[in-house]
Amino acid sequence: MLQIDSPQARAAPATDSLATVASDWLAQFEQALAGRDIALLKPLFHAESHWRDLLALTWRIQTVTGAEAIVGELKKHAARAKPAGFKVDPRRTPPRHVTRAGTKAIEAIFKFETDEGRGSGVLRLTADATGTLKAWTLLTALDELKGHEEHVGRLRPKGESYSRDFRGPNWLDLRKAAADYSERDPLVLIVGGGQAGLSIAARLGQLDVDALIVDRWPRIGDNWRKRYHALTLHNQVQVNHLPYLPFPPNWPTYIPKDKLANWFEAYVESMELNYWTGTDFESGTYDEETGRWSVVLRRSDGTKREMRPKHVVLATGASGIPNLPQIPSLRNFAGKVLHSSEYDDGEPWKGKRAMVIGTGNSGHDIAQDLHSAGAKVTLVQRSPTLIVNLEPSAQLPYSLYDEGPPLEDCDLITTSMPLALARKAHMRFTEQSKQLDKDLLEALERVGFRLDFGEDGTGWQFKYLTRGGGYYFNVGCSDLVVNGEIGLVQFSDIAEFAAEGARMRSGELLGADLVVLATGYQGQEALVRKLFGGAVAHRVGPIWGFGDGAELRNMFTRTAQPGLWLIAGSFAQCRIYSRYLALQIQANELGLVR
Ligand SMILES: Cc1cc2nc3c(=O)[nH]c(=O)nc-3n(C[C@H](O)[C@H](O)[C@H](O)COP(=O)(O)OP(=O)(O)OC[C@H]3O[C@@H](n4cnc5c(N)ncnc54)[C@H](O)[C@@H]3O)c2cc1C
Repeated sequence: MLQIDSPQARAAPATDSLATVASDWLAQFEQALAGRDIALLKPLFHAESHWRDLLALTWRIQTVTGAEAIVGELKKHAARAKPAGFKVDPRRTPPRHVTRAGTKAIEAIFKFETDEGRGSGVLRLTADATGTLKAWTLLTALDELKGHEEHVGRLRPKGESYSRDFRGPNWLDLRKAAADYSERDPLVLIVGGGQAGLSIAARLGQLDVDALIVDRWPRIGDNWRKRYHALTLHNQVQVNHLPYLPFPPNWPTYIPKDKLANWFEAYVESMELNYWTGTDFESGTYDEETGRWSVVLRRSDGTKREMRPKHVVLATGASGIPNLPQIPSLRNFAGKVLHSSEYDDGEPWKGKRAMVIGTGNSGHDIAQDLHSAGAKVTLVQRSPTLIVNLEPSAQLPYSLYDEGPPLEDCDLITTSMPLALARKAHMRFTEQSKQLDKDLLEALERVGFRLDFGEDGTGWQFKYLTRGGGYYFNVGCSDLVVNGEIGLVQFSDIAEFAAEGARMRSGELLGADLVVLATGYQGQEALVRKLFGGAVAHRVGPIWGFGDGAELRNMFTRTAQPGLWLIAGSFAQCRIYSRYLALQIQANELGLVR
């Protein structure tokens, strides 16, 4: 058993010895796994430890907690997967001391193989009461299947098929034919060409899996282009890269929407993705006999195309079906009522009065846009909302990406945080943010804004992961609310809507020409029901959020509905998990997993 005897040694072994410590643990782990020896395996883990596997051993995305459960699960899967060759990876960030979720640990990135593929992992060791270093967290993640590697680097395509055959089709002819689908259907149909759709299409392309993206917008990137005028991204550029093709190093820290939209076009071109714009996915039915979908696509010229792909990946984002709250008296209102999805520009409302119902990101951004266009705006708050300043508070969860390790190491380290520890880490970020944003938060409370900090104080990230909203990154609107330039009322203070605006319980009339419902979107279950029917929606069950589990439900993984997959989330989530989703589809096609 590994021992660290002196307190000094425990505090700071040199980098070499950190590598030795990690290598020793990995060697013992491999030996115990090979012998399926529980007596050897169990003492390697803390009683409260976590093992996250992304396909490598279990063909699932799952987290197991507690030494007892971990060794049982490892034993069960090691016999089939035959993991071996565990070594600290010399090409990656060397083992080092870190503090994760408030706990000091030695963190080591390693590589390994199974019968079917090659993988990477992250090991975190902490000392127990006796000074023995044991695994606190372990990640094992599949990188590639043997014999089916991505065509990158030395395995890049040779290009001979275009350049050596003078009479045959050239690159452009082949590209056009590939994207045309006049005489074939794609194996995978991806619905939605935002960051989620682009990421999974790029990954599948590298694995030779024929995939087509369809999106209803007329132009690639319109999902960003059509958002409000002043939009720049909320996360910093180094967190937002798409797979394979990072943004250029001279790009601004916060990317403007139109620049990003144009990059999407360039990305589709460079990565040779097949993308049909102006194409609405109307419906799909699954044929159990043939294992294929029958899907109906409506193109912008009105024509209909039916396809029979084996897989449908929903990459439709949150913006599927608007959530319209039941406000019966709103029908009395004589002005204009828009859902936030229908709002595009404040200019026509110059000099007019607007009420924006909802205090999440969309509500605040639309209120600020209307205000800047010269409208008199009132925000209507329905429920307590989490507010963080964009800088530095909202960036705290991404500080890892500023530490120096390359992107792929940051992604692996991010992936290696089990849910329980991620929650702890985010509670700490939330406490930090509260301090950093103290003045703003107190000022907001003074004007009657109701604040919250997420379940158990886990902050905005967990609000996003559990309900997809309920927070605002302050880029100035909160300051306008504080200094009274944008009004604030509580929804509960509105008695009813009248033709000229909202009649408050006090009897006062809050006049309005426009009401914007920034009330979010229905969950993706509703979209699955709309596109595939109730039976499929019922079979798949809840989507997004964690329920009682430790992984996002039905995301990036096979669902109970054969051939139906979902991908969504931030750029980072799409970049990271598209790899595992693509591997599952590839493995499915190779008969490795059903
Ligand atoms: C101001 C602002 C800043 C943000 N900053 C960041 C940031 O820095 N980093 C980050 O990661 N996220 C950021 N986000 C969040 C980001 O918008 C979403 O995470 C992102 O749009 C989700 O991408 P997506 O591909 O899942 O969905 P979307 O971008 O919504 O794309 C889905 C696509 O599916 C298409 N579609 C839907 N249904 C159908 C159908 N039936 N048929 C055909 N097409 C269909 C839609 O037309 C759409 O183009 C920000 C959001 C806002 C508003």
